[in-house]
Amino acid sequence: METQLARPAFLQSDGPVLLQGAMDMEIRPYVEALQDPVKTVLGDFVFWQGRLGRQRAVLSRTGIGTAAAAAATALGCQVFRPAAILNQGSAGGYGLKARVGDLVIGTSVYNGNAVFTDKEGVRYLDLGRLEHETAAAAVFPAKPPLLEPDAAMTRWLFAGLSAYAGRVSQGVIASSDQWNDDPDLIARREALTGALCEEMEAAAVVMTAARFGVPCGLVRVLSNNNRTGQPFDPAVCGKLAAAVCRLFA
Ligand code: SAH
Repeated sequence: METQLARPAFLQSDGPVLLQGAMDMEIRPYVEALQDPVKTVLGDFVFWQGRLGRQRAVLSRTGIGTAAAAAATALGCQVFRPAAILNQGSAGGYGLKARVGDLVIGTSVYNGNAVFTDKEGVRYLDLGRLEHETAAAAVFPAKPPLLEPDAAMTRWLFAGLSAYAGRVSQGVIASSDQWNDDPDLIARREALTGALCEEMEAAAVVMTAARFGVPCGLVRVLSNNNRTGQPFDPAVCGKLAAAVCRLFA
């Protein structure tokens, strides 16, 4: 018999979980599992309210990339007042051993779009500090500053997904409006940042969720590995969705 995981505080409150996927293939499996769905369309952002098992949920198709993900997160927070956000979907593996179908739970994420360049080359920007014009903002680090999703939610994801049929890792997610298909560049990024995978939404979601004070968790399934040449497999999105739905059963 499966043991029931202790329900964390953010899921015991009245608010729903805002469960996000960028592409239709990443959100459709949840829409199919949703009970009593009510659909809302704002611009081209689609939300479905309902229940996933015992959990009130708002499913959100965010669209691809940081601009779409930030906008969908702001709309989702303002309109549906979620207790927590779960950003999930596909990602490209960075490690030589990272295989399609493996899971990565984000203990941190960095915004690969925020770069400072001069004659010395590329360094990184801490946008949060820059916004407040602190002295520290003028020091541009060689490694990208890390953004933190909610620690309790990350622990809950790791514990709850441990029975997943595949490897489950925790660590850094690289996030930017980039799709990298150069193995050497990916190797350099991995060496510099320790990132386990790359995707295009998580940093924007964490930054926007923080502006609304909503805790946020990140989980990605590797759909490809452009370091080792494993091509994109859309089927893994359904595998992740099945595992996430079991968290709410
Ligand atoms: N539909 C495309 C895949 C789109 S990839 C295809 O069939 O090939 C872009 C989306 O997938 C983004 O939402 C991003 O978060 C995620 N993603 C998956 N693998 C990625 C990778 N290697 N690099 C960047 N984003 C990736």
